Amino acid sequence: MRLHEYQSKEIFHQQHIPIPRGRLASTPEEAKLIAEEFNGPVVLKAQVLVGGRGKAGGIRLVKSPSEAHEVASKILGSRIKDIPVRRLLIEEAVNIQQEIYFGMTVDRKTGETIVIASAEGGVDIEEIARKTPEKIAKVGINPLLGLKGFQARILAAEIDLPRNLWRSFIEIAQNLYRAYTQLDATLAEINPLVITSSNRLVALDGKILLDENALFRHPEYLDKRDLSAETPEEIEARKFCLSYIKLSGNIGCLVNGAGLAMATMDIIQHKGGQAANFLDIGGGAGAEKVAAALRIILSDPQVETVLINIFGGITRCDEVARGIIKSMEDVDTKIPFVVRLVGTNEEEGKQILASANLETADTLQEAAEKAVALSMEVLVS
Ligand code: GDP
Ligand code: MN
Repeated sequence: MRLHEYQSKEIFHQQHIPIPRGRLASTPEEAKLIAEEFNGPVVLKAQVLVGGRGKAGGIRLVKSPSEAHEVASKILGSRIKDIPVRRLLIEEAVNIQQEIYFGMTVDRKTGETIVIASAEGGVDIEEIARKTPEKIAKVGINPLLGLKGFQARILAAEIDLPRNLWRSFIEIAQNLYRAYTQLDATLAEINPLVITSSNRLVALDGKILLDENALFRHPEYLDKRDLSAETPEEIEARKFCLSYIKLSGNIGCLVNGAGLAMATMDIIQHKGGQAANFLDIGGGAGAEKVAAALRIILSDPQVETVLINIFGGITRCDEVARGIIKSMEDVDTKIPFVVRLVGTNEEEGKQILASANLETADTLQEAAEKAVALSMEVLVS
């Protein structure tokens, strides 16, 4: 779950990470009042959950309260990268000497947290990593020891940070690491962390991703989720506790178990097809959940065939079959289904499906071949 910039900055503030003075506005009048209060140039920042707002026109520097009113009335209600802007963060403008990148995330290769810094902040870190990887400094963090002072100093030295800012940098690094671990975050990023013209380090932008699987430990964030940047499919999938990820192919997949879902996608690819999604309905899914999963798959206009692969353990094949029949009643579709059901209550499941005139298969191999063939047929017809 991604937090807004203003939410990330509330956390920074609690952790004593310096941020510019700022307040939220949802009307041009409020923007003007805040600008009057700050009595100087301010920056208007669209609170939308996308990166690169600056380039997309979502970050604007203004010189007067009346200009704040004028620009706010243009941005509020408009769309930045197709996401509607409902709120602006109005901040005192900062004079920038240098923009630094500073962040931490999970390194999936080593399985530990990696802390990253670069003297070339402000832009996409992925872009720096691609074009000039030598400009990125990294240290791995032992979870039992945490981020040590010497590690922050290694980063400070590698990015040529002026010596008089090292103490402040170390504090910011350790404070951010504390927030990251306390919140069960998977990413905490300050980009840019700026050196101001008065030689102070200030966090000018903030991005925090919370681990969805740990959200139950942070119930205060459960109702803070902003759905405006999520697709209806993602929202629906979460409602039914389905793991759904849309992909670019045309074979929709409904599978129980993440490993089996991966294997199903692999075999589709191996047989020359392309999966339209990853979808794990989990163990013990009932008919309602199966029907919801199929609705989500069928709402994707790219889907031309559906492959259902169920290995019944605690998931019962008859329940899955009922879910399939139910969703076929709900959504009137011409899209062909291939179903492979094995395991618990397999016979009952097959009997239920027999009435529905569906293509069935006994093995995953056979199911994948049929699904790929059907997806190709649709392509040529
Ligand atoms: P992003 O584009 O969504 O990452 O938004 P940021 O908050 O990182 O802002 C993008 C860029 O706008 C920054 O890298 C800065 O160059 C610039 N910017 C943001 N706030 C200020 C400010 O207070 N003063 C100045 N001069 N530039 C700012
Ligand atoms: Mn940024």
